[in-house]
Amino acid sequence: MIYQRIALIGLGLIAGSMAHATRRADLAGEIVGTARSSETLEIAREINLCDRIVDTAAEAVKDADLVVLCVPVGAMEAVTKEIAPHLEPGCTVTDVGSVKKAVIDAVAPHLPDHVHFIPGHPLAGTEHSGPRSGFAELFDKRFTILVPPPGGDAQAAEKLRKYWEGLGAYVDEMDPEHHDLVLAVTSHCPHLIAYTMVGVADDLRRVTDSEVIKYSAAGFRDFTRIAASDPTMWRDVFLNNKDATLEILGRFTEELFALQRAIRTGDGEQLFDYFTRTRAIRRGIIQAGQDTDAPDFGRGAKR
Ligand code: NAP
Repeated sequence: MIYQRIALIGLGLIAGSMAHATRRADLAGEIVGTARSSETLEIAREINLCDRIVDTAAEAVKDADLVVLCVPVGAMEAVTKEIAPHLEPGCTVTDVGSVKKAVIDAVAPHLPDHVHFIPGHPLAGTEHSGPRSGFAELFDKRFTILVPPPGGDAQAAEKLRKYWEGLGAYVDEMDPEHHDLVLAVTSHCPHLIAYTMVGVADDLRRVTDSEVIKYSAAGFRDFTRIAASDPTMWRDVFLNNKDATLEILGRFTEELFALQRAIRTGDGEQLFDYFTRTRAIRRGIIQAGQDTDAPDFGRGAKR
């Protein structure tokens, strides 16, 4: 057991998976959970997602030695204001938000000095959301990035690292700006591109009738899976990681124009060299154990 009482604020995919994985490895004396809507609270009680489900965040954090904010990035500040007066001295507050700098700016000013704030982000997810979507294996062999503040409590950070390792994750540390740039490249911009591609196909629907769906195996199906991700979560990601996503999108657009030009001018050599370079990146991901080379990647994924 690592923590006596863990409070999960928000009970969706990430919190649900944390609850399952915490139980799997017996990492907490008690898991207390809360969410915003009565519907989610009811489902969480029905499926016994936590040891105790309470109606308010203020109630959930009482006597907790770890508090995990598992709400959309845009809701972090309001939730922090609600829990701040009720936090136990010495407790650790962390979050799982997909953006780090904006979350730190929103959360840190409202926390009392007597708690340790160690932001985090598990690099694991699916396109599903809600209290039924979590599963214990979500974090297995995936990275969680922790962002301990400079000069913060080393023991509290070490304990949180042990907890994430207990949930099955590999743990790395980064500073918030670097995290946001890396994630803009690896997650945020790819999601935006998938949303755009699916939107374009949707606009063409009248022309192509049902062909888009019928013939979607050729790459498009993977885009539709990504583009099915939660609209609230992803709206908040882009509103809160503006600089890094705009920077990467600028570079993306330049490269896209270069490829567009190569197609127009019939420059097969440029296209071939480009695709050879990108293929090597895919091999690197597989060698690092972060995906398999099974031909149906993504589609056979859990849930
Ligand atoms: P989710 O399944 O949609 O669950 C979100 C939870 O937050 C729900 O319990 C919801 O309560 C609650 N909530 C929403 N708005 C709220 C508000 N204004 N005040 C209080 N509670 C609110 O979301 P998730 O996928 O677990 O994502 C949670 C966090 O993890 C986000 O910050 C996201 O950026 C981050 N994250 C997500 C992924 C991913 O792939 N999904 C991966 C890594 C990190 P109700 O159900 O009652 O509305």
